[in-house]
Amino acid sequence: MKQRIVFATGNANKMREIREILGEENYDIQSMKEAGIDCDIVEDGATFEENSLIKARAVAQYAKDAIVLADDSGLEIDALNKEPGIYSARYMGEDTSYDIKNANLIERLDGVEKDDRSARFVCAVSAVFPNGEEVALRGTIEGYIGWEPMGENGFGYDPIFYLWDKDVSTASLSPEEKNAISHRGKALRMIKKEISKYEDISR
Ligand code: IMP
Repeated sequence: MKQRIVFATGNANKMREIREILGEENYDIQSMKEAGIDCDIVEDGATFEENSLIKARAVAQYAKDAIVLADDSGLEIDALNKEPGIYSARYMGEDTSYDIKNANLIERLDGVEKDDRSARFVCAVSAVFPNGEEVALRGTIEGYIGWEPMGENGFGYDPIFYLWDKDVSTASLSPEEKNAISHRGKALRMIKKEISKYEDISR
């Protein structure tokens, strides 16, 4: 029987990415909704890792046979003291459009030279295993904040996050190109190794 994996998210893009990375031929992969789980989770951790673990532990209460995964991600801008950081989704209010959030961040970097506009996307992915073991891992991608939004793909802060080597934003990349280098892609591939290790010891 395939091992069940529940990913504590309601985001369809994240579900597609995890299915691509882990492979549905190996696992029965469900979103929270598909697993019939609906619970309010207060993400009050101080780090990406803590918040991802809070989510994974909460959902694991309802899926004891499954490996439960959860992620937490955001953008850190060095010149702004690593803001918006763990508050990336809530920055300027959850309902504020990313056009406004992105314009605001560019504005706050007015006069800052390229070398000092460094930033990174961070993604922590946690796993809670049926035997109670837990792991939290972090993937990152380095870049800088551009002077104007660019590109139509992606979401959130992608239009203002530029790659050092290409001088294009991550919103200019195809989903496949972005997944190959992204913070979330890296963290999910690391978690895949942890899942294989768990399966080896529990066989
Ligand atoms: P969460 O991990 O789903 O809570 O998302 C955190 C927030 O970080 C998102 O709402 C975006 O604002 C931002 N973020 C995380 N990853 C990315 C990305 O790959 N591109 C653009 N924005 C991102």
